[in-house]
Amino acid sequence: MELPPRVRIVEVGPRDGLQNEPDTVPTATKIAFIDRLAATGLEVVEATSFVRPDLVPQLADAAEVLTGITPVRGVRYPVLVANDRGLDAALSAGAQDIAVFASASEPFSERNLGRGIDASLERFRTVVRRAKRHGLGVRGYVSMVCGCPYQGEVPPADVVRVTTELFELGCDEVSLGDTIGVGTALQIQDLIELLSHTVLIDRLAVHLHDTYGQGLANTLAALEAGVSTADTSAGGLGGCPFAAGATGNLATEDLLYALEGSGVHTGVDLSEVIAVSGWMADQLGRPPVSRVARAVLARDGAR
Ligand code: MG
Repeated sequence: MELPPRVRIVEVGPRDGLQNEPDTVPTATKIAFIDRLAATGLEVVEATSFVRPDLVPQLADAAEVLTGITPVRGVRYPVLVANDRGLDAALSAGAQDIAVFASASEPFSERNLGRGIDASLERFRTVVRRAKRHGLGVRGYVSMVCGCPYQGEVPPADVVRVTTELFELGCDEVSLGDTIGVGTALQIQDLIELLSHTVLIDRLAVHLHDTYGQGLANTLAALEAGVSTADTSAGGLGGCPFAAGATGNLATEDLLYALEGSGVHTGVDLSEVIAVSGWMADQLGRPPVSRVARAVLARDGAR
């Protein structure tokens, strides 16, 4: 197995993780979480989401969070925006990177993003253009790249189309999301191979959920296929919103452990991430989902 010599990890816990928490975490705790993560060597910590607070009440304090963190030089703190109003709020709070989101599944797009694929891409056209004019970095997300709870199988050609259009809108990077975690290793590799005919592979990221226990295997498969950016969440924070109680995001520690053991450079300190996850677990009152964090915390606690 050939892995890239260097992998960039995009930490999504403070946004994708906390957004799926049943209870709202205090603003000060979110800020401390982000600052602690940024001190572990992570280059990207997705901070929050400037979306309608009635839709995502857990992140209604987006502006306070973004203005409250202590930025570390060299670390980027992207925020999600859903439209021009969200971009305005993000700009006011000093955002330097944003992320926009589309889906490869038409029914998911209609039901969960409130409009079809083409309409949601069209809505982001001016958002991305304005963001680029302000010198912001722009990431695009594509959800449901391996399957959809409404549609079932999602044709890889649909993933290629949406990914290509996000790049055409001006996104610098596109992250491929297996939002319900149903994909498997060779399916992921085939998808990336197909995408590589149309887009630059070094501008792709993967966001592969662990719902069916495939998150790590699928992410390693993507890295073997030439992707070198992966999204993970400290502690595995963030359940799958479509399966109550099921795990969602791949834990940052679990990927770090695999990469470190394989000699892949990430620049991130594994033990520091585990310490942050342990701290956050205490704030939330339950242990991390991460297998590595559980193993290490149990081992060290038993000493
Ligand atoms: Mg996720």
